[in-house]
Amino acid sequence: MSIFDSPLYQDALGQLEDAAKIMQLDPNILERLKYPKRALQVSVPIRLDDGSVKTFMGFRVQHNMTLGPGKGGIRYHPKVDLSETAGLAMLMTFKCALVGLPLGGAKGGVCVDPGQLSRQELQSLTRRYATEIKLIVGPTSDIPAPDIGTDGQTMAWFMDTYSQIEGYAVPGVVTGKPIAIGGSLGRNESTGKGVAFCINFAAKKIGMEINRNTTVAIHGFGKVGVPAAEDLYAQGAKIVAVSDVSCGIYNKDGIDLRSAVEWVKQRKLLKDLPGAKIISNEELLALDVDILIPAAIDGVVTKDNARNVKAKIIAEGANGPLTREAIDIVCKRGAFLIPDILCNAGGVIVSYFEWVQGLQNFFWDLNEINTKLHGILQKSFEEVYACSKSYKCDMKKAALITALKRLDKAMRLRGLFPS
Ligand code: NAD
Repeated sequence: MSIFDSPLYQDALGQLEDAAKIMQLDPNILERLKYPKRALQVSVPIRLDDGSVKTFMGFRVQHNMTLGPGKGGIRYHPKVDLSETAGLAMLMTFKCALVGLPLGGAKGGVCVDPGQLSRQELQSLTRRYATEIKLIVGPTSDIPAPDIGTDGQTMAWFMDTYSQIEGYAVPGVVTGKPIAIGGSLGRNESTGKGVAFCINFAAKKIGMEINRNTTVAIHGFGKVGVPAAEDLYAQGAKIVAVSDVSCGIYNKDGIDLRSAVEWVKQRKLLKDLPGAKIISNEELLALDVDILIPAAIDGVVTKDNARNVKAKIIAEGANGPLTREAIDIVCKRGAFLIPDILCNAGGVIVSYFEWVQGLQNFFWDLNEINTKLHGILQKSFEEVYACSKSYKCDMKKAALITALKRLDKAMRLRGLFPS
């Protein structure tokens, strides 16, 4: 498989080309953005608890670092490959540029089902992976964070491994760390909170109130889906359905969110939640709700099922949950789509705050973090909305155009080395 082959890379490339055409981006800038700057593939051998050795494939890709050090999560998932990682790194370039961060785009991952490994095996995997990709990551070059299948503990092991090799603590090498070792307040909820902020901005644009009559369905009940659900629930919205890889649950009068969150905390998966009406993930996507948040994985709404989606607002909590064809279909139908690089940018924004706080050794309070997060997302949302009006295009293309304008300017100023 080449670096360009995955559906996700092809989709990201297609988005780039669509936006470049609309805004008439300089073809020389487009040419450079089609390729990742650097891609590292590593093998990660670990000793399993039974004494045998098993090798996993790991990746770190830096797409573009014009604006600053690479930034992007680390994914542990059986679907991870070089091309998918490269596509996600490209999306990170656009996301950081869109919200005005001095950071470039990167992504990493290991092809593994973390649910099949013990805690000790996961620790070995993380430490060996960190050692292998240390070649290209560091607090001034490329700063990983959690993504699907990884969390604060993964970041703590990563940071410790890097620090052991350097000989002193280097908290700035990763973000999404636990608070006790230099993490930021608000980081865990930041992506989901950002999704909820963006839904509020979108609701205002279409005259929708968020109240007891507002129905919400959430596909993916993890680090993004749960806090987004909690925020909207706290505003009074009715969360009628949530799902994870095991199943979906549905209640037209609103599910008992607290029990579902507690159940998943204890048992990891929604399945077997007492008293729940089970639906499939496909049924959840097609529910007649006001707001749909696909917050699991990419490519869940395609040209084949996009016509079934009825939600008025579709908030892309995950990266690339709707394919390009699906976006055209839902936007033509009149749905308000909040694109991933805007909708889920809360995570990278607070990661940036964490990195800055770590560099300064000076930590902010939660109110300051959430106020700054809200301010950046609101400004970015308005820029994208204005761009969609001036180019008469959907919000997805407008977000790309807004990001590309920033990148285009910076890439021209820096020039092409050697000239
Ligand atoms: P997570 O592992 O915490 O949660 C993922 C959820 O999706 C889980 O509930 C899982 O069971 C479910 N899921 C996985 N495969 C599924 C499938 N095939 N069908 C239905 N549900 C499925 O991951 P996360 O961090 O919440 O990330 C979710 C998405 O958001 C990813 O696309 C990720 O790249 C993106 N994202 C995450 C962050 C962050 O800060 N965590 C930031 C930006 C974007």
